[in-house]
Amino acid sequence: MKKIAVFPGSFDPITLGHVSIIKRAMPLFDEIIVAIGLNADKNYMFGMEQRVKWIKEIFKNDSKISVQSYKGLTIDFCKENKANYILRGLRTASDFEFERAIGQVNRSLDPNIETLFLLTESEHSHISSSIVRDVIRHKGNYSILVPKEVSV
Ligand code: ADP
Repeated sequence: MKKIAVFPGSFDPITLGHVSIIKRAMPLFDEIIVAIGLNADKNYMFGMEQRVKWIKEIFKNDSKISVQSYKGLTIDFCKENKANYILRGLRTASDFEFERAIGQVNRSLDPNIETLFLLTESEHSHISSSIVRDVIRHKGNYSILVPKEVSV
């Protein structure tokens, strides 16, 4: 059976931290679907089309990586795409608490889908999309936090 992982998130925008997690997970899976969740309660800085475009561009030479948007439960998206793994990154203790709750709920919804966590590399542990958005808003040098394809 093919090992397919879903890497869910907002990717508003994708950062060097996200890219590092995806690259490190590549040897572990046959396919990784970067899944951009659409949450009606969230206000995004970048439109879905733009976020998808950046991710496609970054991974254009990596045939294992694809990108899709989705609505609804991550677990349902996994089932629709025959993915048995959810990939997440961990930066801090507060990430852990948040991820633990989601991971355990997801496991109770479908015990066949395992959540796998990779610890962030130390040089990326301070990077979050929300900090990147703040730097962009205030016209700072965001290029040290995101892949070169992300340009606003
Ligand atoms: P969400 O809206 O679900 O938090 P994000 O796009 O912020 O989505 O993050 C998606 C995933 O990437 C999460 O598992 C998050 O912990 C992980 N992540 C975010 N930033 C980093 C980083 N700098 N290093 C490692 N993992 C990260």
